[in-house]
Amino acid sequence: MVTKLIKVEAIKRILNGEICVACQASTKDNFLRQVRLLRLGSIKFFDQVPISLNESCLNHLQSYICRNCLQNLPILSHNKIWQSEKMRLQVNSLFSYQRPISNMIVQLKFYHKQYFAKLLAIFIFLLRQKFLLDNQDSIFVPIPLHQNRLKERGYNQAELIIKETAKLANLNFDNKLLLRTKITKKQTEVKGFEERQKNMSEAFVINSAYHIEHLNKFKKKQVVLFDDVLTTGSTIEAATKPLLKAGFKVKALTIAREDFI
Ligand SMILES: [Zn+2]
Repeated sequence: MVTKLIKVEAIKRILNGEICVACQASTKDNFLRQVRLLRLGSIKFFDQVPISLNESCLNHLQSYICRNCLQNLPILSHNKIWQSEKMRLQVNSLFSYQRPISNMIVQLKFYHKQYFAKLLAIFIFLLRQKFLLDNQDSIFVPIPLHQNRLKERGYNQAELIIKETAKLANLNFDNKLLLRTKITKKQTEVKGFEERQKNMSEAFVINSAYHIEHLNKFKKKQVVLFDDVLTTGSTIEAATKPLLKAGFKVKALTIAREDFI
């Protein structure tokens, strides 16, 4: 079944000696090994994916990422949910923040490799189909960047990923509901619980440009906040606060989650 999935694009990349975008290993050296692995077809990743539904997504992944990386993804189980102790908020993460996923996120975030957004969106689409289905009526909102940081980077990586996911799974997407009003330090750079709270307090507000009727329409629905990595939980909690206050129900989804949280 898996053998059938490899298409011309993937074979071309291998023969041309292109590299795996996740680990930079040359796929040319491994050509025979790759073929053998394809024949074996016993790949952990594929066990979790209803293959028949998603051939084109799998083909896209396989044409960029080597079998070794796909075999060793740090997948978290569906029910390993992080629960905030401070508010009604659960965070569902796909992976533990380890290679090759951590590498892919870094490349997207700091090296302008925007094609990783689609690859990561495919992982969400394939590995969290039930979650996406259960949230068809929700609005998917990326954690916004402060506009200064947005200017610096040129894009919001979380927004790129969830926008691609919304296209694949036909989800409601909104990137203007929430605004980031404060430039915050990285939570990992701030020591101590209280300092972290202070750093993030009132960092987010609901966009006042949204008309009341518009907000009321939203209130019937639920928001799924999206971020690339769950580090301490403080950022997502800070973004959740104004939403809860405005009467939204909030859940959150991230690509990866730090192991220490
Ligand atoms: Zn690789």
